[in-house]
Amino acid sequence: MTEMNQPAQSVARLTRALVQPAQIMAAVTEFGGPKANEESQPSTRPNSSGGASNTSTKRQFRSESIGRVVSVDTSRARSNLEVVSLCAEKLGFVEYPEGRRDGRPCDIYWHNIIYSDMKDVVFHPGSRVNKFPGMNELAKKIPLTRAISSMQRLFPDQYDFYPRSWFIPAQLDKFNADYKSIMTVKAERGDDEPTWFIVKPDEGAQGTGIYLIHSPDQLQKLNHAQLIQEYIAEPFLLSDNLKFDFRVYGVIKSLNPLSIHVAREGMARFCTETYRRPSLSNQDQVFVHLTNYSLNKSHGGYIHSNTLEEQLKGSKRLLSTVFHQMEGHGIRTKRIWHNIKLIVVKTVLAMVPEMMLNYEHHFAHVPQGPQCFQILGFDILLTKDLRPILLEVNASPSLTIGHTLPPTVLENQVAKLDSDSQSISTSSAPDLSTEPEKVHSVVDEVIKVPLVRDAMLLVMGQLDSAYNGLSTRTGSESALNRLASGKSLDDSMGPLTKKKAHLREVFPARYGQNCWQLLFLDKAVYLYMQFVNTKKTILISSNGFRTFVRKCNLFDVISPADLDKKFVSVEQNFLGGRNIDDGIPFHGFLDMLFFIAQRKYPDSNDLIEAVQSLMKYCQTMLRHFGVRSARLRREEVLETHGDENQVPEIYLLPCRVAGGKWRMSAGTQRQKVGNSSTKQRSRSAKSSALVKKHFGTNGVTLPKIT
Ligand code: ADP
Repeated sequence: MTEMNQPAQSVARLTRALVQPAQIMAAVTEFGGPKANEESQPSTRPNSSGGASNTSTKRQFRSESIGRVVSVDTSRARSNLEVVSLCAEKLGFVEYPEGRRDGRPCDIYWHNIIYSDMKDVVFHPGSRVNKFPGMNELAKKIPLTRAISSMQRLFPDQYDFYPRSWFIPAQLDKFNADYKSIMTVKAERGDDEPTWFIVKPDEGAQGTGIYLIHSPDQLQKLNHAQLIQEYIAEPFLLSDNLKFDFRVYGVIKSLNPLSIHVAREGMARFCTETYRRPSLSNQDQVFVHLTNYSLNKSHGGYIHSNTLEEQLKGSKRLLSTVFHQMEGHGIRTKRIWHNIKLIVVKTVLAMVPEMMLNYEHHFAHVPQGPQCFQILGFDILLTKDLRPILLEVNASPSLTIGHTLPPTVLENQVAKLDSDSQSISTSSAPDLSTEPEKVHSVVDEVIKVPLVRDAMLLVMGQLDSAYNGLSTRTGSESALNRLASGKSLDDSMGPLTKKKAHLREVFPARYGQNCWQLLFLDKAVYLYMQFVNTKKTILISSNGFRTFVRKCNLFDVISPADLDKKFVSVEQNFLGGRNIDDGIPFHGFLDMLFFIAQRKYPDSNDLIEAVQSLMKYCQTMLRHFGVRSARLRREEVLETHGDENQVPEIYLLPCRVAGGKWRMSAGTQRQKVGNSSTKQRSRSAKSSALVKKHFGTNGVTLPKIT
C-alpha cells in the first residue's frame, strides 16, 4: 500500500460516500490539537485593537513546542483567507485578520502572494511565513527551465521528466537549429508528420497567451520572453478521451534543514472537448489542448461536481479517483505515484540553490531570518506510456474552495450526469454573457482544507502528535478521513486504525537516499555567494567573476580575454540582448563553471565529475586565500536512514545556522538533529560558537511571542 489513497480501495466507495461540506468541517474540527493540551479558551477572533475577544468558548491548540496557543496573522491571506481562517479556527489557533497591533510577532504569517516587503512584516526568527522570498520568480517558466537544465546537464538520467525547452528571444537561433535537425532526423526515417511545440509567455498563467506551433516561422512576438516546449502530443487518456493533468501539492517545510512533503491527495483537471492530436485544424482549440480550470470552466461542457460521487465524471476530480479509474483499466498506479513524488523532490532540489540565494538577499539585513515554508503546485501530465512529465510549478497555487461558474455550466452538468455516455465531448461554445454564480467545490475542499491544516501543523512541529492524538481521542472518524485513509463508511464500526497525515515527508525521509547526490548545487551557490554582495544583488558582475577566477588561480585555464568573451555570451544567453550590465544570474555562473571545469579536467568521465573536482579545488584555494573562509560552514540535513556517511548536507551561512539553532530550542523536530549523533552535536556546538563570534549573540534564548 502506498502513501497515496490507493484508489482501488477508496474510490469504489465514493459512490456511496457523499461527503458534504458539513462533514468536511467535522473532519477539520477533529484536529483540535494534542489531547494533553486541550482546554477551553476564549474565542480566537481578535477585536479591532488587535487583541483576542472573548465571545465564545472553544478548544485551542496549545503548541507542545512553544507551550502556548499558536497565533496566525492572516492580514495578507486575501484569496487564501477562507481556507486558512477555517483551519485556524478549527485548530483553535488565535487568528489576527488585521495583524497584531501590539507590536509582537505571530507564530505563522499567511500571505497570498510573495510581498516584496516581507522582511519588514515578518522579521522574528521564531516566526514562520508561508512564502520563500524570490519563489515567484523562480517558479516562472523560464527560470524553472534554467534550473532544471543545469541539473539535466549534470544528471541527464535523473532529469528526463521535463519536456525539451527553449526560451526566446535568447535561444531563438538554437531553436531554429534544433528544429532543423529534428526535421532532418524525421525525414531520414520517412516520417513526414509535423512536430508540435507549445509556446508559453514567461509571465503567463492560467493558459493565457499559450499557442501551438509546428514550425519556427509561426512564432509570434519574437522579442517577448516566451518558453517553447516540445508538445506532449500523446497524453494518457481515460475512456472519455479528454486530456487531463494532475495538480500535485508539495510543501517545503524548511530550507534549513531541507524538508519536503507531498500531499496524499491532489487534483486532476480535465479538458472539455475530446482530445485529438494537434493539427492545422485544431491547433487553436484550447478546450482540446489546455487543461486549465480557468479556461475550461467557461465551456458549456464543464461538469461541476456538487458531491464526491459526481466528481467521478466531473471536470475536476480527485487524483485518487483518477488513479482508481486507471486501475479499472488494469494500470498499476503505485509506480506512477512513486515517480511523481520523485519529480517533486528533484524539482525542489533544482530550485534549492536560488532559494538559498534569495533568502540571503532578502533577509541580508537581519542576523536571523524567519522560517519560510511554502505550498507549491506541481502540474504533471501523463504520457500515453504512463510517464509523468512536469509541465510547470506554481508558487501560489489556488487555495480557494469555492467557484464562480457561469450558470450554463450548472444547468449542463445535470443533463451530462444523466447521460450514460462516458464521453462529455461537446461543441457548445462558452457562454460568458450570463452572470457567474458562486458555488462550493467539494473536490477543492477535500484537497485544500487538509492541505492547509496539515501545513500549519507541520510548521508548528505538531503534525505527528495531532494525528496520533486524533485516533485515541475522538473515538470515531469522519467520512472524509475514512475516504482519505481508503476506508469506506461501512468500515466505521470496525476497529480504529492510526490516521495518516495528509502530508508525508519525501525528503530527506523516503527519497533522501535516492536523491542525496542531487543536493549538489548548494555548494556551488555557496561559492557564488562569496563573490556577490547579497545585500544588494543576486547577480554576479564580471568583476566579481574575475575575482573568483583570480583567487582560485584559474587564469591558466581561461585567459582574461576568453573569460570576457564567455561572460558576454552567457550574458547574451541569459539576458537575451537586453542591456543590463549588473551581471549574470546563478545559472549563468554555473554555465561559466561548467566551461572552466571541462577545460581544467578534460579527462573526467563526465561533467559532474569535472565540476566536483573544480569545486573541491576552488574551496581549497579560497581557504588558502582566506576569502571569508570562516563563513564556509555547513549544516547537516536531518539524518533519517541507515548509512551516516550518506547523509545529505546543505551549505549555509552562519547566521542561518543560528536560525536553525534557534528553532532547535523551539521545536521538537530540530532536537532530533542535535540528538542524532555525537558528530552532529559537536557541529552544532561549533556553529553556535561561530555565530557568537560573528554576530555577538549570546547563545539562543526562546523569545516570548505572545
Ligand atoms: P499556465 O501557467 O498558463 O497554466 P502551463 O505550462 O501550465 O501554463 O500550460 C497550460 C496547459 O497547457 C497545461 O495545463 C497543459 O494542459 C498544457 N500543456 C502545457 N505544456 C504542455 C506540454 N509540453 N505538452 C502538452 N501539453 C502542455
